[in-house]
Amino acid sequence: MPKDGKIHALVWSELTEPKDIYPHGISGVIADYLNANTTNIVAKTATLTDKDQGVSDAALADADVLVWFGHTKHGEVTDASVARIKKHVEERGMGFLGLHSTHFAKPYKALMGTECSWRAYVEDGKPAKILVADETHPIAKGVEPFIIAREEWYGEPYQVPTPDAVVFVGVYTDNREVARDGLTWTVGKGRVFYWRPGHETYPIYHMPEVLHIRENGVRWCAKWI
Ligand code: ZN
Repeated sequence: MPKDGKIHALVWSELTEPKDIYPHGISGVIADYLNANTTNIVAKTATLTDKDQGVSDAALADADVLVWFGHTKHGEVTDASVARIKKHVEERGMGFLGLHSTHFAKPYKALMGTECSWRAYVEDGKPAKILVADETHPIAKGVEPFIIAREEWYGEPYQVPTPDAVVFVGVYTDNREVARDGLTWTVGKGRVFYWRPGHETYPIYHMPEVLHIRENGVRWCAKWI
């Protein structure tokens, strides 16, 4: 439970997502939603060009959870930034919520300790069916199965450690592909949640269902629920 009665979320994006869909980044959509629709989450945004790449020791010390979207600039994140993030998760219990292509982000890979690769990446723009795999998990609270109209799918196997929970699965290409789309781990003192859907050329991060899952994920990563 955060110490001052509020969850402090630091929402980071490299800001390579399309400006016509995300004028203020995926980070802007998430932070604006949390600030406007909750009374006990305070969200700030950060990016690669900020001081210490937006993840200074002071910025991380203020965060109960770090939300991360990376895609084409993983290589620009320094080892020093990765080390700071890893330390705050493992030793202080800061949560980490990784989005979609973040599976190859350096801080996420450092937390997982594995390759974090998927078998396949197919941007066919077809519908995805998102199902709740663990109805008892706090991140699934209030979430019903839903359809994402257009999405890119990633194919199993996904090279990560065995998760503590598989909260959501996605069903793709006429039921032929099933992917673990919402996974949790405990890393040191911290909680990690990976949410796979959300290819940046589609307006998926604006969807109410996805924003709701994100809010639940922030609360869970911050040990509020
Ligand atoms: Zn993608």
